[in-house]
Amino acid sequence: MLVSALSTEGGRRIDYPVAMPSSVELEFDSPPSNRADQKPSGPPPFESWGRYPSFPAELKHLHWQTDFPRAMDGAHHGALAVGMGRSYGDVCLLKDGMLLETTGMNRLLAFDPVTGLLAAEAGITLAQILDFAVPRGYFLPVSPGTKYVTLGGAIANDIHGKNHHHAGTFGCHVTQFDLVRSDGRRLRCTPELNSDYFSATIGGMGLTGLITWAQIRLKPIVSRVIDYVGTQFHGIDEFLDLTRQSESVEYTVSWVDVTSTGKNFCRGIFMQGDHARTPGPLKPSGKPKLSFPFELPGMALNSVTVGAFNSLFFKKQMKKQVTMQQDYEPFFYPLDKVLHWNRMYGKGGLLQFQYVIPWAHAKEGTIAILQEVARSGLASFLAVLKAFGDVPSPGAMSFPKPGITLALDFPIKHDKSFLLFDKLAEMTREFGGRLYPAKDARMTAAQFRAFYPQWERFAVYKDPALTSGFWERVVGGQSGVRGGGR
Ligand SMILES: Cc1cc2nc3c(=O)[nH]c(=O)nc-3n(C[C@H](O)[C@H](O)[C@H](O)COP(=O)(O)OP(=O)(O)OC[C@H]3O[C@@H](n4cnc5c(N)ncnc54)[C@H](O)[C@@H]3O)c2cc1C
Repeated sequence: MLVSALSTEGGRRIDYPVAMPSSVELEFDSPPSNRADQKPSGPPPFESWGRYPSFPAELKHLHWQTDFPRAMDGAHHGALAVGMGRSYGDVCLLKDGMLLETTGMNRLLAFDPVTGLLAAEAGITLAQILDFAVPRGYFLPVSPGTKYVTLGGAIANDIHGKNHHHAGTFGCHVTQFDLVRSDGRRLRCTPELNSDYFSATIGGMGLTGLITWAQIRLKPIVSRVIDYVGTQFHGIDEFLDLTRQSESVEYTVSWVDVTSTGKNFCRGIFMQGDHARTPGPLKPSGKPKLSFPFELPGMALNSVTVGAFNSLFFKKQMKKQVTMQQDYEPFFYPLDKVLHWNRMYGKGGLLQFQYVIPWAHAKEGTIAILQEVARSGLASFLAVLKAFGDVPSPGAMSFPKPGITLALDFPIKHDKSFLLFDKLAEMTREFGGRLYPAKDARMTAAQFRAFYPQWERFAVYKDPALTSGFWERVVGGQSGVRGGGR
């Protein structure tokens, strides 16, 4: 039925490749999800990328679309579908309930080589989609900073990438999906069909039901190569000038040094790129070779080591501007080169903080927050600055809006980093911005309601049997809103 629904586009018949495995589980060598070894009193069964907070929720694996909702039998404290656990905080965690891990549900269902429409089960990873699509001349329409996320996770957080100013969020490229509710109802969702569930589920943090499969529209490419330009900048004004000058460039993002003050305050490297237009080989990517082998002691990342890293990173690009051709892997996924790099932050884990502040206060808000971070001495060496565009997202709860977004991470030091976070979250609110739930473990209920005033309308579509650590923290039982929809 799925194939017949997908088999015509604009009245034309579409022939799928005969070799397409349609109901066979594909074997891919991707790193496993954040499943931890289950030992008594050992690590929790499932961790988010920040490894904080840590909960003992039971973990079950889904292999077939029909496993749900039966797999939830016996879950007394709610359930939640999860993917690769690449969210940083508790949006993919649950305190006492049951996590339903979807990465075994990763079959490719259909592909149209003419339109680039691809349908796959929700547990497939973007890495697996790329392995299939790149040799066929297609690429992801939107890609986050790691390819080890699932299709379901990409939709549920309505992720954004370096081309937000051109392409909007991932949800803008989702044409349809099936959503299964805990009462067994299966809803085909498109912008026209069950459009309210379509909108609530894109960016709906897994709370509206299980996405079993989805169809997305890929974008054509003729080469793996990215035409790259890296430009040093000093200060927010130079960053804004470069943003304006590169409006026609598809991908832009900046690394910013958040440790430096004085004349080096807000220095960084503005990185921009377009897919090369000259045809080149479209071979699949190799496997990652490096893995971070152990946890560093908590004190290994401190203001001295992080400051030194930032200085080296800035000076690595010796010239004001560098132009080169680069493979898409280091351009999009530099961090994926080292698996488990989150171990570098030690057992305590890391906190991410990502805001967007609308243009009206974007510049003053960003300066004030960067000053606060530099003052704190708790700097992060992965600081990413970007301007979001104005392409609207179909998701009711999506994070991006036009303005400046900054993502930072910090090793967790309970006495200090939480205080800083609380301060930064409050500053974000005062500047009219909001935080990204996929990267959050700290926002308060009051902040959530201010950041996402539409949350009560969204809660109507929440599945009553599903919840998450994040939802319990920011809404919990206090809302008076009972999910359940129609
Ligand atoms: C190095 C790194 C870089 C990143 N860069 C970016 C970036 O540039 N832009 C960006 O937006 N994000 C970025 N992220 C965050 C990441 O893209 C998102 O958190 C993504 O949603 C993670 O997908 P996942 O498969 O790991 O899902 P999980 O983290 O396991 O779950 C995420 C959410 O999806 C829900 N979910 C998962 N599967 C299903 C399903 N089948 N049905 C319903 N709900 C489901 C879960 O309930 C949860 O709410 C980055 C993360 C890392 C580690």
